[in-house]
Amino acid sequence: MPRPERVDALILGAGVAGLSAGLWLRDLGIRAVILEEALQPGGQLHEIHAPIPNYLLAYGWDGARVAAGMLGDARAAGLPILVGSPAVSVSVRSRTVEREEERIRAAALVIATGLRRRTLGVPGERELAGRGVSFSANRDRTAYAGRPVVVVGGGTAAVEDALLCAETGSPVTLLHRSARFRARRDFLERARKERSIRIVTGARVTRVLGKDQVAGVEYKVRGTARPRTAPADAVFLRIGWEPRTDLLRGQLRMDRAGYLIAGPAGSTSVSRVYAIGDVCSPRCPSIANAAGQGAAAAWEIARALKRL
Ligand SMILES: Cc1cc2nc3c(=O)[nH]c(=O)nc-3n(C[C@H](O)[C@H](O)[C@H](O)COP(=O)(O)OP(=O)(O)OC[C@H]3O[C@@H](n4cnc5c(N)ncnc54)[C@H](O)[C@@H]3O)c2cc1C
Repeated sequence: MPRPERVDALILGAGVAGLSAGLWLRDLGIRAVILEEALQPGGQLHEIHAPIPNYLLAYGWDGARVAAGMLGDARAAGLPILVGSPAVSVSVRSRTVEREEERIRAAALVIATGLRRRTLGVPGERELAGRGVSFSANRDRTAYAGRPVVVVGGGTAAVEDALLCAETGSPVTLLHRSARFRARRDFLERARKERSIRIVTGARVTRVLGKDQVAGVEYKVRGTARPRTAPADAVFLRIGWEPRTDLLRGQLRMDRAGYLIAGPAGSTSVSRVYAIGDVCSPRCPSIANAAGQGAAAAWEIARALKRL
């Protein structure tokens, strides 16, 4: 393999955190390159379909509009963003990243890989994605209005999705693997009173049924051997998010859930390697936090590279 290309800073991920770090680094005179796996930068912003209630200058916008604005700013500033270009391996000690046929070595490496949706890993889930398997009732429920649906999960997002589907006239089965819900209490109380929502606890999904389109969900209830079936034209999976840190396992300090452990300006257990945004923020995942951490890490990098 040829010698690695060298850059001042390499950022993995063009979500809010990565874009913010890139913009700040550029402003501080540091050449940063951003690698983005998806074809469209913005990360989780593309999952926000409800009006944003808590970010300045974007109050009431949806996430796609924020993503378009941020990308426009990044492009206007001339940030090099390589889209459709995932990092496929990372050597943290040498700060070298492999993508496609190329290796890039950075004086400073920034991990901004964010989160991905947790999946069930059962047969039928992947095969029927987009054909009844959905991750958002907010976006997709009207297509199934009045038809039976299943919602899987026990947090606020799951219970909210069950309520949203009930509002559009769907009979809803809410399957949750535990007996305890982590959802907002007012949502849960409403769901328990709603006659078109059937709540099944201790339920583990074993298969999504259907050939070309979802036809139902097979599950087992704790303590029973016989699988049961909930008929459904759609299944909404709301079982949470997990950090995208697979490439870094064994190389950087993480908590038990796989979140990177970082200092206030993104410093990690390895010198000149930084972690920013949701990938290290299980307690405060937000646009503001991701943008702020990007800025803080950029300042820290500028100091480390003696540009300040
Ligand atoms: C439904 C929903 C609603 C939300 N509502 C709000 C809200 O109202 N207010 C608010 O402040 N926040 C909200 N958030 C949270 C907010 O969107 C996130 O906190 C923020 O966008 C996180 O940005 P990030 O850059 O840290 O990570 P992400 O947005 O997850 O971006 C990470 C990027 O890294 C890329 N990537 C991952 N692995 C690789 C790799 N190996 N190589 C290259 N690229 C890679 C991904 O493709 C992605 O583009 C919401 C989130 C969701 C899902």
